[in-house]
Amino acid sequence: MSHFRMDKKTVRKLFGKIKGVVPVPNLIEIQSSSFNDFIQFDYLPEERQLAGLEKALRNVFPIEYEDKMSLEYVSYELGNQACTCGKLNGIEDRYRWHCSSCKKSGCSRLEQDVTCPKCTKNTARYHACANCLSRVTVKLPMSLDECRSSGQSFSMPLKIKVQLITWAKDEAENKTIRDVKEQDIFFADIPVMVDLYEEKGRLQLGNLGTFLINGVDRVIVSQLHRSPGVVFSQSKKVKDFRGQAYYLARIIPMRGSWLDFEFDSNDSLYVRIDKKKKLLITTFLQALGVARDQMLSLFYDFDIVHVDKGTFFRPVDDTLLGERIEKSMVPEKEAKTYAGKRVTKELLARLGKSGIKTLSLSTGYLLNKVIAQDLVDEQTGEV
Ligand SMILES: [Zn+2]
Ligand SMILES: [Zn+2]
Repeated sequence: MSHFRMDKKTVRKLFGKIKGVVPVPNLIEIQSSSFNDFIQFDYLPEERQLAGLEKALRNVFPIEYEDKMSLEYVSYELGNQACTCGKLNGIEDRYRWHCSSCKKSGCSRLEQDVTCPKCTKNTARYHACANCLSRVTVKLPMSLDECRSSGQSFSMPLKIKVQLITWAKDEAENKTIRDVKEQDIFFADIPVMVDLYEEKGRLQLGNLGTFLINGVDRVIVSQLHRSPGVVFSQSKKVKDFRGQAYYLARIIPMRGSWLDFEFDSNDSLYVRIDKKKKLLITTFLQALGVARDQMLSLFYDFDIVHVDKGTFFRPVDDTLLGERIEKSMVPEKEAKTYAGKRVTKELLARLGKSGIKTLSLSTGYLLNKVIAQDLVDEQTGEV
């Protein structure tokens, strides 16, 4: 190691001359192997593991409709796989083989590309098109450089094969298949990691570890996932005009939308889905299927008030605890004993002993209170 002096105090050390001890590993291998595990590109449907895209699709399907029909997922195919003239297409045609010794044929991956799985002689060959004499391979509409110069994304079409099954049901609720329709449907163009290459007889993607989106190279950066759960917090920065802090609640699911609950300055409760526009919580609850007239009972307890000939009564029971009794509530002769007192358990017992079963309420008591259900005058139908 060499030292050299810049001035009297600073000593600079030079590490450039240290020889490499460990070879630099393939730093984009994490990215590309993860992507290849995700798409399982050059695999026959039966070779695929239940992972990545295959798992995602199997999670969604089958889609059922009232026991009458179901849409079942069969397999997917990524990229346009065809021979040069386009007569043969699909990954199955890529791995269809014929053996010249035993005259058998099939569709599977051959060992060393020539070993027949039936007679184990090295006489099997993959099919080539009779018309253009080429084998099925992945056709790219544009090369990587063409995509880059014309500002396109490097993507491949994703097609899935699905079956629409119609079920018939007899009286004993036994389901039998009435009809099956199978179809390849175009699903989406998905950006794929560049570039296409062959390794160990298998086509792979992503030796560059990047994606090309609209002509620009992009990488995916792994991020931590916020752990799911419910978080209550106090907003530190924002305070309303009364100087009170806002309180927030947040539901973070394992996957799916985040829900944020917050109050505004009028103390109305709102919900935000994925930090987007805020909605009134009642709108949200209605969307979840809670009926309008049941909503209040989810959040509040009720006092029962009876109506009789224009006056309101409350039964004497535990719900009265903590309230103050006014002069007008009790019959005149009892007024002296009870007026102005707060209701306790003992007082309730005393009220019961004196035969007071209901308290009449003045209209002032009911003002500013909310009724849970619409009050209907039975004779006139007036609300
Ligand atoms: Zn052909
Ligand atoms: Zn054979």
